[in-house]
Amino acid sequence: MPIDIVSCDEDQNITLNGEPLLRDEVSDIVPEWVQYGSSLLIECPYCNSRLNMAKKSMFQGQGHEWVEDISLGVCPKCSFWHGEWYRDLGIGQMGCPESEWEAQLSKISEYENVLPEGCEAELAHYLRANPELWCTLDPRRLETLVAHIFRHNYAASEVMHVGRPGDGGIDVIFVESGGRRWLIQVKRRENTRSSEGVGTLRNLLGVMLLEDASFGAIVSTADHFTYSAHKARHSAEMKGYMVSLIDRGKLDRLLEPIIPFGEWIDLIERRKPEWVSELCKSIPDKRQLSFRDYLYSA
Ligand SMILES: [Zn+2]
Repeated sequence: MPIDIVSCDEDQNITLNGEPLLRDEVSDIVPEWVQYGSSLLIECPYCNSRLNMAKKSMFQGQGHEWVEDISLGVCPKCSFWHGEWYRDLGIGQMGCPESEWEAQLSKISEYENVLPEGCEAELAHYLRANPELWCTLDPRRLETLVAHIFRHNYAASEVMHVGRPGDGGIDVIFVESGGRRWLIQVKRRENTRSSEGVGTLRNLLGVMLLEDASFGAIVSTADHFTYSAHKARHSAEMKGYMVSLIDRGKLDRLLEPIIPFGEWIDLIERRKPEWVSELCKSIPDKRQLSFRDYLYSA
C-alpha cells in the first residue's frame, strides 16, 4: 500500500517522503497531517468504518514535563491506517519548546473498472472500500482475482486460471495439496442485489460429471444463492458431488489474507521498538479465516 511520510527532525527540518518541504508547503501540508496524526481521525476516510486505535505515551524529564508518544489508527475493513510518533525535545535555543515527530498515512489507489494484472493486494484494499466494484469488475479480471485468492490461501496447492471460450464454463481449477481437484465457475453479476440460481449449479454439475470431478465451487458476485440452489447443492452432496457456493459476502471475507496487515509496525520498530508488542496487541488481526471453512460449507 502506498504510504506518505511526513517527518520533522531535531533540527526542525520537515520532509515529505524524504524531500525537504519549503516553508509555504509546510503550512499547506502539515495541518492536514496534524489532523490525521492526532487521535481525531476515528473513522476511515475510504470506507467510513470505525478505526481500531492504539496509543502509548511515556513521560520524561525529572518533573515528567516531556512526553513521547505513538498513536495508531487502523481500519478493520480496508486496512487504511495512520500512525504518528511524537517526542518533546524540551526548550530549544530560542526559548521555544521543540519536538521531533513523524506521521505516516496510507493511501488507497483509485481504479477504473479495468484493472491492471498483478497488484492484487491493492485491488483487495480498493474492493473493501468500494464493494460495489465487485459487480462492475471486468469478468476476466474477476477470474484472475479469484484464482489469486485460491492460490494465496493454499500456497501448497496448484491453481490454474483456465477461463476461455469452450472450456465448459470452468474458469479456475484448484488442486489441493492432497490431490483433490476442484472445478470453479466464476460468475460476475452486475446487479448488486441479484441472486444466483439453481441453473448455474446444474451447469456446473453437468461439467463435473463429464470431467469425472467430485468437487466444485461457484464463486458469484451475486448477493446470495437461491433457496433452490442450496437445496440442489444438498441433493448433489448426497450423491457424492460436493459443491461450495461462495457469494459476494463470502468472497469479500476471503480477501482478508491478501490484504497486507501490520504495515504500520515499521514506524514503531524504528522509533520505539520496545513498544511493538504492546501496540500490536491493541490492533486485532482479523485475517485468521480459513479458506477451507468456505470450501466445505454451503
Ligand atoms: Zn477503511
